[in-house]
Amino acid sequence: MTEFLSDRVNTMALSATLAMAAKARELRAQGKDIISLSLGEPDFAVPDFVKEVAKEAIDQNYNKYSPVDGYLELKEAICEKFKKDNNLNYTPSQIIVSTGAKQCLSNVALAMLNPGDEVILPTPYWVSYSDITKIAGGVPVDIPTSLETHFKITPKQLEEAITPRTKMMWLSSPGNPSGVIYTREELEALAQVLRKYPNIFILSDEIYEHINYMGQHVSFAQIEGMYERTITVNGLSKAFAMPGWRMGYMGAPEWIVKACAKIQGQITSGANTIAQRASITALKAPLSKIQYMIDEYRKRRDIVYQLLNDIKGLKTNLPDGAFYFFPDVSYYFGKTLRSKQIQNASDLSIYLLEEANVATVTGDAFGNNKCLRLSYATSEKDLREALRRIKEALEN
Ligand code: PMP
Ligand code: GLU
Repeated sequence: MTEFLSDRVNTMALSATLAMAAKARELRAQGKDIISLSLGEPDFAVPDFVKEVAKEAIDQNYNKYSPVDGYLELKEAICEKFKKDNNLNYTPSQIIVSTGAKQCLSNVALAMLNPGDEVILPTPYWVSYSDITKIAGGVPVDIPTSLETHFKITPKQLEEAITPRTKMMWLSSPGNPSGVIYTREELEALAQVLRKYPNIFILSDEIYEHINYMGQHVSFAQIEGMYERTITVNGLSKAFAMPGWRMGYMGAPEWIVKACAKIQGQITSGANTIAQRASITALKAPLSKIQYMIDEYRKRRDIVYQLLNDIKGLKTNLPDGAFYFFPDVSYYFGKTLRSKQIQNASDLSIYLLEEANVATVTGDAFGNNKCLRLSYATSEKDLREALRRIKEALEN
């Protein structure tokens, strides 16, 4: 019956991260002892001080629709956050709160792209960038990188990717899936190219801002000349361990925010009110309240780095932020493992699921077919066991 579905959905890929997580859940329900390193979602509980406010908000009857773009108090808290953490001056009319950062991305794509407009995606990009672009009629233009180039694009590559149809560039730093962070100097160098093309807009996805082991976060909008054409996307799914509460937000020029609100008003009416009330408290809190999670991720990163380096044929960078490893697994291509020929990263990911009961995500989903993504947002015990199993399965 798929002929009755729209071409839009028929040509769209399933979200590989969510699909692998669903597969892992399904196998677990069948009784298999699966360790999932597939989904990038914190394994921590929502901090108690945030939970308390959500409970109060229910009792205070926050059951009506909120304004489409979010409660003013929350937008003010977001402006304070942007000032305090990023030295960015936004007013509430430049802020919109959405159902996860994912909805911010979709709003922006629908608000900014006409059919055929090109969106530059430095690879490896986050899984949904490409399909969200396509849903809006845009054309993703990948810029390849590799482990050898530290998964970062150069200004020359950016310049070469620009055409008269280029409308936007979407960048995540700290990056999902590579974990790399562009330094201020590197962002400056990219901005220097962009200054020549005033009609290109930048979507800077900073959702991993606080999961940073390198030091100060740099927002793209801080770079000279970029504020007027940068959309800064962020959310509470990662640093506050609230992925299921679906809280995302962005700061941008007012005309872009207005356009996103117009779309959101027709599609979702606005974000969940209880989560919005809780987010006011979360964003106003000192960062020291969530530091324990960052410390734990850093500890796990160091452990996984050591364990990965102990597996023959895997090559990896040491991520500066986020909670993923993106090892190059191409050493195994063409090899036969337990009578299964491994042709590519997808084959290896399936092999690891079947042989080691470990779920990962193939690099193809992120525009890189040599790598696999492993999320370390899971307990140290599971990580150690997962890496032991991967090593054993690959040594076969
Ligand atoms: N951007 C990146 C880079 C992500 O990893 C995620 C994680 N899902 C999102 C956006 C979307 O986050 P959410 O919709 O949960 O806010
Ligand atoms: N950001 C997470 C990931 O990359 C969540 C999954 C998703 O939203 O696709 O795994």
